[in-house]
Amino acid sequence: MPTPLISANVAVIGAGASGLVAARELRREGHKVVVFERETQIGGTWVYDPRVETDPLSLDPSRMIIHSSLYSSLRTNLPREVMGFRDYPFIPKTDKTRDPRRYPGHREVLLYLQEFAREFEIEDMVRFETEVVHVGLVEDGKKWKVKSKKKSASNDVEVAPDFRVVDETYDSVVICSGHFTEARTAEISGISSWPGKQMHSHNYRIPGPFLDQVVILIGNATSAIDISREIAHFAKEVHVASRSVADETYQEQPGYDNMWLHSMIESVRDDGSVVFRNGRVVLADIILHCTGYKYNFPFLESNGIVTVDDNRVGPLYKHVFPPVLAPFISFVGLPWKVVPFRMFELQSKWIASVLSGRVALPSQEEMMEDIEAFYLSLEASNIPKRYTHNLADSQFEYNNWLAAQCGCEGFEEWRKQMYYVSCNSRLLRPDAYRDDWDEGHLIMEANNDFAKYTS
Ligand code: FAD
Repeated sequence: MPTPLISANVAVIGAGASGLVAARELRREGHKVVVFERETQIGGTWVYDPRVETDPLSLDPSRMIIHSSLYSSLRTNLPREVMGFRDYPFIPKTDKTRDPRRYPGHREVLLYLQEFAREFEIEDMVRFETEVVHVGLVEDGKKWKVKSKKKSASNDVEVAPDFRVVDETYDSVVICSGHFTEARTAEISGISSWPGKQMHSHNYRIPGPFLDQVVILIGNATSAIDISREIAHFAKEVHVASRSVADETYQEQPGYDNMWLHSMIESVRDDGSVVFRNGRVVLADIILHCTGYKYNFPFLESNGIVTVDDNRVGPLYKHVFPPVLAPFISFVGLPWKVVPFRMFELQSKWIASVLSGRVALPSQEEMMEDIEAFYLSLEASNIPKRYTHNLADSQFEYNNWLAAQCGCEGFEEWRKQMYYVSCNSRLLRPDAYRDDWDEGHLIMEANNDFAKYTS
């Protein structure tokens, strides 16, 4: 007789894209799920917030924290066909209020996630305005204590919100809290006496405040590319500093007469000037750090079993389970340079089926050996620790491995090809890639696949 599946009591932290799909997969597998969400609605990153943090560099620990890093004009950097979950494609809606573009604006993604949550009745599982403040093992070492703070409704707007603290015990905790909120800034020699302003892209919303300014923008990932171009229409000059170009680099950017690409900043001086490694000196008003984010799990007390070291969350088996605590603590969504939603879906299926006992994990020792071998392979290739969760080309093998574990279909070939076409055209035509798409056959393949779920 087959062993009956285990139904666990699971706490999911976060109701962004990863928490939503985790909740769906866990419930499908028969688990009892509570999703904790500190904001008032689902969507996480995709809930645009026009407010910015009180510290524009986002370093002051006492600042008010704003979760989302979206800017007002943001359009997706992946085609919608690639972005959606497997069985709930992100297809354009005919309603005139909707954004039918292949790379839609951020509101369209939020609407898609809201529809996904409605379709699978996920909101019933969510406790809104409830922040998880502590997750720790209970004494017998088999369950998790989850302490959460619920904002109580107060009719008196003059009164600070009142909080109710609740202590509960769960069999398992799935961490889906996102990793694009805690800013990482560049270290710059001489910065403490530089008189200009500094901010992080987490607090960038609109270009207006950069009117007539001389801006130094550090970074060259997707947000940096978008923001530099948007600002260039307002600013006097934009100087992009990149650590991934040769020291002598100094190039006017095609299509712009006020934007240049430089190598990294060498130092800054107290007269307001910025010295680049290419020897150029620019008198600047503001430095904008588009330098990414740090993993941060302030609520997690794991007695040192899971740590964040130079942006490596570890040790984690396949970026999901810490061997010593597996399968009762897991992370969804840590890898970056990936197709996020589809990966979240596969990680969630794996977690759900491991918790139910349908899929087995290797022994603790085997998982540790696998992790050590992975870390050694990174070292051997001179890949810094902070790139541990950067999957890029290896994401397809990773996703297919996850799919094989839970016996479901792997990463679709058309999705992989569309991803590559999109990345290449973003590099070649950063101003235009979102609005011209030639690969009609890939769209046809995607639509044929979607018909299985939409007709
Ligand atoms: P989030 O969306 O960040 O959600 C985490 C949730 O957890 C939030 O709702 C938060 O309030 C909640 N939370 C956190 N801590 C707690 C706590 N202690 N208690 C309770 N709740 C908590 N991806 C794409 O596929 N396409 C794109 O074009 C794209 N563009 C992007 C542009 C920008 C600027 C950024 C920052 C990211 C972009 N991404 C894009 C990646 C994006 O982050 C993922 O698509 C995805 O939205 C991440 O989902 P998540 O659920 O992991 O995290």
